[in-house]
Amino acid sequence: MNEKLSAHIEKIDARWQGLEERVHAKLAGFAGADRSTEVRLLSQAAHASTVAKRVHWLRKAAETATRDVAAVAACRKGCAHCCRITVAVSRAEAQMIAKETGRPLNRQAGAFTVENQNDFTDPKARLAAAGFGKPCPFLKDEACSIYAFRPLACRLQVNLDEDDLLCQLVEGHTSSVPYLNLMEHHAAAVVLMGQGQAYDDIRQWFPEGSSK
Ligand code: SF4
Repeated sequence: MNEKLSAHIEKIDARWQGLEERVHAKLAGFAGADRSTEVRLLSQAAHASTVAKRVHWLRKAAETATRDVAAVAACRKGCAHCCRITVAVSRAEAQMIAKETGRPLNRQAGAFTVENQNDFTDPKARLAAAGFGKPCPFLKDEACSIYAFRPLACRLQVNLDEDDLLCQLVEGHTSSVPYLNLMEHHAAAVVLMGQGQAYDDIRQWFPEGSSK
């Protein structure tokens, strides 16, 4: 192991000392917060008549769920480590983004589904590796160029640490990140968009060189 990597791992180990307690202390400030708007928006998503409308309400619910906690998160404008990892996007969302941004959609993408996951050799690992280290095609000058239309996966990624240390991509090492637990939003998205949805990394749906 080279010196740079060992120094990085040391820093990470030190950071994790007491991190869970610090995150719990931060979240304690939100205990008892009124979540009725978030719940109502998820309900509107569940009752919407089309997949596009469901995605619309899921986006609103995600914004509401993460708005207040953003003040204590590590995520900042100009920080784009999570734009260099895999971003799993469903076909329904990819079609919406294509329509909203005018960017051509690669209709051949969508290799992953909930139903076919057992047909692949470790499909989750393959999807997880797909975007590692590669910038998202919508990342421009270290900022999201389609912020209003970004996927749910991007909206639901909130690091509750103090800074970006644990998000940094270092070859030969992967770190855990204390993300805000938004499992109910992820689960609602899978269920409401339909179990038959095809998923793929955002780079597959919108390959470089396919801009309008
Ligand atoms: S869509 Fe935007 S926020 Fe999401 S990974 Fe791409 S550049 Fe980053």
